[in-house]
Amino acid sequence: MSRRRDRRPQQSSSERLEQWVPRTRLGKMIQEGRITSIEEVFMAGLQMREPQIVDALLPDLQEEVININLVQKQTDAGEKSRFKAIVAVGNRDGYLGLGSGKASQVRTAIEKGAANARLNVVPIRRGCGSWECGCGEPHSVPFQVEGKTGAVKIVIVPGPRGLGLVASEVAKVILGLAGVKDCWTRSFGATRTIPSFAYAVFDAVKKTYSLITPADWVR
Ligand SMILES: [Zn+2]
Repeated sequence: MSRRRDRRPQQSSSERLEQWVPRTRLGKMIQEGRITSIEEVFMAGLQMREPQIVDALLPDLQEEVININLVQKQTDAGEKSRFKAIVAVGNRDGYLGLGSGKASQVRTAIEKGAANARLNVVPIRRGCGSWECGCGEPHSVPFQVEGKTGAVKIVIVPGPRGLGLVASEVAKVILGLAGVKDCWTRSFGATRTIPSFAYAVFDAVKKTYSLITPADWVR
């Protein structure tokens, strides 16, 4: 865990907000207090193009560095090394984002990744979904979802309350940031490729909203 703490970006979200000069219409509306919740943004189908929008609307946002890779690239001037960081953000209560950033310095790569993750924040629907539980509380995924990236696939299965996250370390971190507390997971393919695996988990939990269940028609 200490390793993860060392890699945290230097500037806090409140510091970033103080220096924020909005460039977009949505950003200005938020700074003027005309939009005060992230639900409004998603209901109106607005695009968040500034990371500070997410900081302003989700003050409890947490971030975790998922992976850092050294990327070598051949250029005219010779070999160029850059770092690629994968960063996840979430409020542990139904909002999650995953992003990446590249830079010649680790810290800058993380900052870019964290900013990109904020722009990718989406609502994650939670539910009970477990026939063994039936408590009706939003502690798991509402139904089974599948996610895929490249050669990696993950299936997330609703689990009963108290089960915990039966998942790999990377999936645990991402699901935890989304606010999923109990579930089973099954993964297939090149699951050790952490960036692909992380994006597969993100793809899966995003489907809690994109899939419409028969129960939604009744509502
Ligand atoms: Zn339950």
